[in-house]
Amino acid sequence: MHYVIIGNGGAGLRAARTIRKRDPEGTITMVDGERYPCYYRMRLPDYISGWRERETVFVVKDDFYSENDIELVREDRVTAVDANEHTLSLERGGTMSYDRLLIAAGARPRELTCPGHGLDGVVYLRTLDQAEDIIRRAGEARNAVALGGGLLGVEMARAFNELGLDTHYLIREDRFWPQMLDAAGSSLVEEVLEEKGVVLHKEEGIDGISGDAGRVEKVGTTSGKELGADIVGIAIGVVSNLEFLEGSGLELERGILVDERLRAGLPDIFAAGDIAQALDAASGEHRLVTSWLNTQRQGEVAGINMSGGDAALEGVVPFNVIVIYGLPVASLGLDIPPEREGYEALTGDYPRDGRYRKLVLRDGVLVGGTLIGDIAEAQAIESLIKMQADVSPYRDRLFEPGFDAKMLLAELRGGQ
Ligand SMILES: Cc1cc2nc3c(=O)[nH]c(=O)nc-3n(C[C@H](O)[C@H](O)[C@H](O)COP(=O)(O)OP(=O)(O)OC[C@H]3O[C@@H](n4cnc5c(N)ncnc54)[C@H](O)[C@@H]3O)c2cc1C
Repeated sequence: MHYVIIGNGGAGLRAARTIRKRDPEGTITMVDGERYPCYYRMRLPDYISGWRERETVFVVKDDFYSENDIELVREDRVTAVDANEHTLSLERGGTMSYDRLLIAAGARPRELTCPGHGLDGVVYLRTLDQAEDIIRRAGEARNAVALGGGLLGVEMARAFNELGLDTHYLIREDRFWPQMLDAAGSSLVEEVLEEKGVVLHKEEGIDGISGDAGRVEKVGTTSGKELGADIVGIAIGVVSNLEFLEGSGLELERGILVDERLRAGLPDIFAAGDIAQALDAASGEHRLVTSWLNTQRQGEVAGINMSGGDAALEGVVPFNVIVIYGLPVASLGLDIPPEREGYEALTGDYPRDGRYRKLVLRDGVLVGGTLIGDIAEAQAIESLIKMQADVSPYRDRLFEPGFDAKMLLAELRGGQ
C-alpha cells in the first residue's frame, strides 16, 4: 500500500505517525513545499521574541523520517491531483501515484489589498522562513505596526514589542478577538498590552501604505492617522491552499468538504487540518477549524481510516488557548451568545483581580465559556459542553467560591 500525504504540518505528520503504527509495511511518502521537519507554527511568535530556542520550534528532528521509514519530499509542491488515475503532478516535474491520499496542505495568510500592500517591509507570519525574516528586519527597524484583532494579530504585536520596536496595534473591530471575547474580556487583554507599551488603536484599519525606494515608511489608517513604520505585520485571517485542487473533482468551499471520517467524496482521498471543512455530526454543518488541537484529532482519524480502520470525529467544540504576556485566555464553544431567546451569559462578579469567567447557556445547557487569568477549568468545561450538560440545577452554585467546572463535572458523572 502506498500512502501519500500532501503537507508536512501538524495534520500530515500526525496521520503519518498513525499510519506507520498501524501498518509497519506500507510505503509512506510526504510531499511538502517547505524544507524543514514539521514544526509548531504557534511557537514562532515566542521564537521571534527570543523566549524560545530555535530547536524547540520543531515537532520532530530531521532523522525522524528515515527512522520511521517515511520518505519526505521537501521543497516540492503538488500542482494537480488526478483522482481517476490516482496520480499527482509535482512542480519540479514528474508524477507520483498513490493508493491512498491525504491532503493536509493547510492554509496561508490572507493578504492585504490596499495601496502599498506590496512594499518591502509588509510581512506575514506563517512559516519559519517568515519568522526569521521578521527577526532579521527587526534588527534594523525602530517602528512597527501590526494589524488584526485575532490570535495572530496580538501575537504579532507582542513579538514586535518584545523585540524592542515602538509598536502600534490596529484592530478593525471594537475589541480584541471579536468572535470569541466580549468587551469585558477584551479589556483585560487590552490592559496587559497597554501596560507593556503597545499602542492600541481600536476600530482602525489600514487605508494605505507608503514608502521610499520600494520600502515601507508610513501607514495611513482608516481614520486618517499617519504612523511611521519600518515593518508592518498583517494578520487578517487565513485562506486554505485549495488552488491546486481546482478541476480535481473534489468538492471545495472554504476548504475541502469531508465527512466525519475525513473522506473527501472521491475514492481513496482524505483531507485533514486547516484545509479540511469537516462535517460536524451534531450540527450537520461542514466546519473549518484552524487550530493545532484540531490537526492532531483529524490527523489521527484520517490515519486510522486510511490504514483500514474505522474512526469518526467527535462533535467539534471550538477550543482556543493563548497566553499574552503571561495572561492565559481560553475560549470554548459558543462564547458570545446570539441575542435570541434561550441564550444567556453568566459572569458572576467578574471581571475582577485580572480574571474573567463566563459561562454561556442555551436553555440551561452549557454551550460555551471564556476563562481569562486562570484557565484550569477549561478541559472540564469542554467535557460539559460535549455532554450537553443541563447545568440549570447548579445555577446558583456556578459562581460560588470554591465551586468550579471540575467539581460540577465530577458531580454530574457521579450521578450518571
Ligand atoms: C504564528 C501562528 C500562531 C498560531 N498559534 C496557534 C495557537 O496558539 N493555538 C492553535 O491552536 N493554533 C495556532 N495556530 C494555528 C495552527 O498552527 C494551525 O492550525 C496548524 O499548524 C495547521 O496545521 P496543518 O497541518 O493543517 O497545516 P500547515 O501547518 O499549514 O501545513 C501544511 C503544509 O502543506 C504544505 N503545502 C501547501 N500546499 C502544498 C502543495 N500544493 N504541495 C505540497 N505541500 C504543500 C505547506 O508548505 C505546509 O508545510 C497558529 C498559527 C500560526 C501561523
